[in-house]
Amino acid sequence: MKSVWFALLWLLPVAAWPVDICLPTGNDALLRGDNAGFFQPTVEGSIESGMFGCVRNSGHRLHKGIDIKCLQRDRRGEPLDPIHAVADGTVAFVNAKPGLSNYGRYIVLEHRWDGVPVHTLYAHLSAIADGLAAGQSVRKSQVIGTLGHTSNTRERITTDRAHLHFEIDLLLNPNFYVWYPKHDPQAPPFGNFNGKNLFGLDPAAFFREFANNRKLNFADYVARQHVGFTVLVSARQFPWLQLHPEQTCLPAQANAIPVAYEIAVTPFGVPVTVWARTAAEVSPEQLRRLPVLNRVDEAEMTQACHHFLERSRAGWHLSTAGREWVTLLTYGP
Ligand SMILES: [Zn+2]
Repeated sequence: MKSVWFALLWLLPVAAWPVDICLPTGNDALLRGDNAGFFQPTVEGSIESGMFGCVRNSGHRLHKGIDIKCLQRDRRGEPLDPIHAVADGTVAFVNAKPGLSNYGRYIVLEHRWDGVPVHTLYAHLSAIADGLAAGQSVRKSQVIGTLGHTSNTRERITTDRAHLHFEIDLLLNPNFYVWYPKHDPQAPPFGNFNGKNLFGLDPAAFFREFANNRKLNFADYVARQHVGFTVLVSARQFPWLQLHPEQTCLPAQANAIPVAYEIAVTPFGVPVTVWARTAAEVSPEQLRRLPVLNRVDEAEMTQACHHFLERSRAGWHLSTAGREWVTLLTYGP
């Protein structure tokens, strides 16, 4: 009997947490195909400007999440919509000082879907639920705050454009809190939960897919994302490899020694597959120049907001932003 219990305990962390989500506000127009009722446009006005992707500044700036329209207002027009945790999880971070961030007041929750660590982010809130603090557990659909229009940007979010900015992110490096202050001593005290360490998937696409497939496996979902490029990095260990064993593909021969890792990345900076490469798969020239861009999907990377790569007469290569992304991904033990 005892051994059965041990076997069950061993299985639990892997098997017991499938994806189980709800929408973060009462606005479910997305699932009825009503984009105009769901996405809050920017002042520029197109519905696309509230969606995820290269939708800002004429396509030159990435919008890392989606902007969800407000449904309820008081007599003065202030938003009232309660914000719900989209899944069971843990509060990772709360920023209660709106003046410190372009996210304004924001909350980050951590979840583990099918074994994959993932974060959801809720921004521009007018209020945080009483007593909500990092480390607490939350349940799916629990009210964690109130929709608002807080931000520290010069161009304020007007009351009529109040919305929830919502992201589904993977955390690039758990040592960001050490790495980043060296680059920016004025950095706000957000630890690992600075937007620069959070790389997003399209939440609307994810909600639609989950609505059609309640048995969706999150690790498979991430692996199916479009790849913009692959990059070769040195074969030494870095935190992503431990946090995402589901992504790692070992060499075909069990005793082969990897000389580099090749990482497949979405156009928006989320690693989706990591291959351990052997000397037979990487040229000496590439090994000398690590980190180095290996493959590019030109059709994916020609949109104007993808700043990781540049194109010169010699072809595609990592930009300064791309090199910085690699440095952050591979930083630390
Ligand atoms: Zn937004």
